[in-house]
Amino acid sequence: METKQPLKESSTNQVNETSDEDEWSLDNFEIGRPLGKGKFGNVYLAREIKSKFIIALKVLFKSQLQKCHMEHQLRREIEIQSHLRHPNVLRMYGYFYDETRIYLILEFAANGEMYKFLKRQPHGRFSEPQTANYMAQLADALMYCHAQKVIHRDIKPENLLLGIHGEIKIADFGWSVHAPSSRRTTMCGTLDYLAPEMVEGRSHDEHVDLWTLGILCYEFLVGSPPFEEEKQDLTYRRICKVDIRFPAHLSVGAKDLIAKLLRPKAEDRIPLKKLLEHPWIVMHLTEEVRSRLPSFQKVKSEKA
Ligand code: ATP
Ligand code: MG
Repeated sequence: METKQPLKESSTNQVNETSDEDEWSLDNFEIGRPLGKGKFGNVYLAREIKSKFIIALKVLFKSQLQKCHMEHQLRREIEIQSHLRHPNVLRMYGYFYDETRIYLILEFAANGEMYKFLKRQPHGRFSEPQTANYMAQLADALMYCHAQKVIHRDIKPENLLLGIHGEIKIADFGWSVHAPSSRRTTMCGTLDYLAPEMVEGRSHDEHVDLWTLGILCYEFLVGSPPFEEEKQDLTYRRICKVDIRFPAHLSVGAKDLIAKLLRPKAEDRIPLKKLLEHPWIVMHLTEEVRSRLPSFQKVKSEKA
């Protein structure tokens, strides 16, 4: 008898997945073109031979992970991402490994990286309607994650992919944690997206993702994050002061939402449910995007 479940969407939109004993191996896949290069390995387009199901295969080198002491973080990433089920969260179907490498079986995001897509826009920014529709998808996905007690902590354009319908797929749960976290943040990379409580090394909870949504909303509409500076200490000071400047082209509604997310005190930030009811979001949300958001589907079925 075969223990390994086929990789395909079932009629209930649930994807059959592997359990820990199941053994995927490289023999199950045809490897296609490279999709991108990561810090610890490469990502390839691949197809499961039996079902012809298309996936993205992320190949990580154990030696590099060990050198950077990232095994623990990867384990957490797998543990968290493989249990999340939301149309705007990149699915992880399973994983396997051999002597030298670890392979992650990921949902294929056909439209690639949000970061590149943003850069390709006129003036390197999105329109207000487009941004509002992205924000609604992110809010819906984060509401789901937070309900599962998962905080992402690293939402930024580089960690967002785009699906076949142009829908957002949150990827990269490498820095996510099961809430709450009283651990000090180890600073690495850019400060631009970090909430005041994180740059100051204080304890933090799921409210950090609300702050990051505010940063992202600004970046989508303006083309660069609000506290960007050459020198990190200047960014640091501007984050702590919430020293935000809005360009003239932003509408009152957009500014209002950003200001309600970028509040220094974590508890003052607008909750995700309220974000979805914000007039600027409601005004722009398309029927197409709305119909794909699980929290709206729930409302519909409750009313029915
Ligand atoms: P990490 O941020 O975890 O250190 P990384 O940023 O180095 O990893 P990834 O972001 O996972 O690496 O992958 C590198 C690139 O491969 C991405 O920028 C993207 O272009 C492409 N890619 C990764 N996963 C997918 C996917 N599921 N579908 C399509 N393209 C992908
Ligand atoms: Mg990445």
